[in-house]
Amino acid sequence: MTSHTDETGFDRPITFTLSHEDARGRVVRLGPVLDTILSAHAYPPVAEKVLAEALVLTALLGSTLKEPGDQLTMQAQTDNGAISLLVCDYIGGKLRGYLSFDAERLVEAGADPTLFGLFGKGFLALTFESAGNRYQGIVPLEGASLSEAAEQYFRQSEQLPTVIRVATRHDAGAKCIAGGVLVQSLAVGEEGGERLEVRGERVHADAVWGHVATIAETIRDEELTDPGLSLEALVWRLYHDEQEVRVAKGDMLSRGCRCSVDYLASVIARFPQGERAEMAGDDGKISVDCAFCSRIFSIDPDAIPAAH
Ligand SMILES: [Zn+2]
Repeated sequence: MTSHTDETGFDRPITFTLSHEDARGRVVRLGPVLDTILSAHAYPPVAEKVLAEALVLTALLGSTLKEPGDQLTMQAQTDNGAISLLVCDYIGGKLRGYLSFDAERLVEAGADPTLFGLFGKGFLALTFESAGNRYQGIVPLEGASLSEAAEQYFRQSEQLPTVIRVATRHDAGAKCIAGGVLVQSLAVGEEGGERLEVRGERVHADAVWGHVATIAETIRDEELTDPGLSLEALVWRLYHDEQEVRVAKGDMLSRGCRCSVDYLASVIARFPQGERAEMAGDDGKISVDCAFCSRIFSIDPDAIPAAH
């Protein structure tokens, strides 16, 4: 008997490889992890939807990281948007995220705003960090959704033809569910693709990718967010005609943050004594808030370790 979580496929990405088509993909459906993150914030529904989409994207991209300490940060930033900042990150299966918004302008944007209506003119930055190396790709926040902006990132920064679909579902009185799929060509590059062998015929990689991408685009929002449809069944539904589809379960995701009194004290310890004294409030404690958790920590300056 598998656990409830396994049956619904919540919070555990799966990867799939279409080996004869030189393509790979990932699917994820966020449930309890998403709920934990959203419930820390009490954002308006429109903002929750955007953060949910961003968290699905972060989970899809983060699950490609190889080492437990590798980190992915996704940041959408604008000067003039109803949402001015959105940050999500992934490290070792731990997801977190938050956003900053102007409540009035978010109301003006309406119930189903465009990406431009939410962010105005802005940028999406994806930062990968692994073993001390840092790589950042930045694309304009353009297209119909964050997912389209992320597709653009893969086309521009990685030269990887990519299809991404993300859907969110928030039924009245129920918890938010968000799911997404990402499919990438491993054979089609800037040069227009090499030739490869498929079922004994020489075909052009572009045509093969076109077929794989077209199928990925047929996925419906209801399929991505239906807890009754397992992720494996979803992949099978899409690609059952392919010669070989290999599916593997990824690591379980969890909601995680690095904030703790000890961690924050160690950050404050890097400031000179004089500056630390200025940080303290009337009660003599230093207040530090974690935007990811919407929590305020009260740090006793006397308990801070000595700076080195
Ligand atoms: Zn935190």
